[in-house]
Amino acid sequence: MICLMNSIARNIETILREIEIAAKSCGRNPDEIQLMAVSKTKPLEMLLEAYNAGMRLFGENRVHEAIEKRRELPDDAAIELIGHLQSNKVKQAVGTFSCIQSVDSLKLAEKINMRAEELGIVQDILLELKTADQDEAKTGFADIDDFFSALEQIILLKNIRIRGMMTIAPFVRDEDLIRSSFRTCRDTFLKAAERYELKDFDTLSMGMSGDFAIAIEEGATLVRIGSSIFGTRF
Ligand SMILES: *Cc1c(COP(=O)(O)O)cnc(C)c1O
Repeated sequence: MICLMNSIARNIETILREIEIAAKSCGRNPDEIQLMAVSKTKPLEMLLEAYNAGMRLFGENRVHEAIEKRRELPDDAAIELIGHLQSNKVKQAVGTFSCIQSVDSLKLAEKINMRAEELGIVQDILLELKTADQDEAKTGFADIDDFFSALEQIILLKNIRIRGMMTIAPFVRDEDLIRSSFRTCRDTFLKAAERYELKDFDTLSMGMSGDFAIAIEEGATLVRIGSSIFGTRF
């Protein structure tokens, strides 16, 4: 049987090399691209293994699971939320995650802002755009106009800092469909940055194990890699 634990460091090294190749192939500086280790469902020991191999950024999709892992991880490791956030979990999520990548409504942003104000902190968020027509990806702003009218309001919230945008490409083989999904997110990101002169709006979170090279070609600054680092999830 293959021992996945011992291969985590090696997997990270491989991914970093692939990120570098993808970046260079399109004339980008690999240092502009941050690697997130998506550790959802994986035991703490595996996160620590990744930490020891140099990883400082982790992605989780369940609030409770993330709180437990947060407690055990060294302080200089950050956990960001990449899964959908239910409003009844906002209270626990704010402050636990260094960034909430999955904000997809004005209402949710307002709840996050209110909780951040209670705690006296500023919560970093990304706005998630739905760029795939598929059922699998139900989260994210589905309509660009809705996105912009929400953004106009979210900008005004004092205890939220909008760091950028996130999207999930469709789970298909067709590279053109995947690319066009990333492109939609990047174009919207650039439009938003220009229209509102947003400060600190520098993160474009796109790309997973199967499609991160395409995402990098389309401008991703953060790639979210799970199975290629930790192995398949069951
Ligand atoms: C699970 C997940 C990932 C990682 O997926 P892999 O294919 O295992 O790399 C990335 N982003 C989001 C939003 C996820 O839910």
